[in-house]
Amino acid sequence: MAGSMVAEYEPRISCREALLVPTTGIIDSHQLMEYFIKDASSRGAEVVYNAELTGLTKKGTGGFIAEIEEPSGDKIEIEAGIVVNAAGLNSDKVAEFAGIDIDKAGYRIKQCKGTYFRTKNFRDSPVEHLVYPAVGKDSTSLGIHLTPDLAGQLRMGPDAEYVPEDTGYEVNESKKTNFMKSISKFLNNLNDKDVLADTSGIRPKLQGPGEKFRDFVIKEEGDRGLKGLINLIGIESPGLTAAISIAKRVKELI
Ligand SMILES: Cc1cc2nc3c(=O)[nH]c(=O)nc-3n(C[C@H](O)[C@H](O)[C@H](O)COP(=O)(O)OP(=O)(O)OC[C@H]3O[C@@H](n4cnc5c(N)ncnc54)[C@H](O)[C@@H]3O)c2cc1C
Repeated sequence: MAGSMVAEYEPRISCREALLVPTTGIIDSHQLMEYFIKDASSRGAEVVYNAELTGLTKKGTGGFIAEIEEPSGDKIEIEAGIVVNAAGLNSDKVAEFAGIDIDKAGYRIKQCKGTYFRTKNFRDSPVEHLVYPAVGKDSTSLGIHLTPDLAGQLRMGPDAEYVPEDTGYEVNESKKTNFMKSISKFLNNLNDKDVLADTSGIRPKLQGPGEKFRDFVIKEEGDRGLKGLINLIGIESPGLTAAISIAKRVKELI
């Protein structure tokens, strides 16, 4: 739609043209996870927390032996016919445990931090819809966008910054000036006194800095002699939105 029509939906947004996506929305991600856990548990799945996979060996007779380390330092081994590697930022390392050359396979993860800022007060979001700027086709992110949350505040972000491994999740408040500059290109009259540092997250990207766009990988590794290993690597946004579709694809592969 033309920018002049956008005012009917979002009076504080200025733009030349816009696309309206009526099906987009926001969810409570914690509640969704609780639902998934409850649903899986009711079908016999067992969720084990604080247990780190430290090795994955292919068995001669088929299947794998997974080495697991507990916080106490105790180690256990589990035999599995099928292993689904959905280890996020560590998914390349898990593939490496199984003997895959991750550089040759193009599986090495590059960590890309995304920081958010937010408005100060509840129920003071200046927009009602999710608002995304247009970005170039090889952009490393969706651009700093506007997301009203369930409490009615506005979240702004995330930006995209490639970081070394082991970078923490602290929010660098000095980014605020750049955030305000980016946002003021399409949102009018947001006062920087009303904006606070919020949270951050780290994306597991396959696309490195300055590289062309690279999508995620969902692959059963039978052709590498690792039948039964399903790798999910580089599952970044919208991996949460797509979680059920990804699970259906993994089920097909199994
Ligand atoms: C800043 C930011 C904003 C995002 N916004 C959105 C959004 O708006 N919409 C959307 O759909 N998606 C969004 N995403 C993407 C979404 O968060 C991911 O796609 C999703 O979390 C991927 O799920 P996953 O289960 O593959 O990996 P993860 O959620 O990373 O889970 C991997 C799990 O594996 C565990 N693990 C790792 N190594 C080991 C090991 N050796 N042993 C045992 N466990 C291990 C980790 O502890 C973790 O619990 C965003 C991501 C970021 C960083």
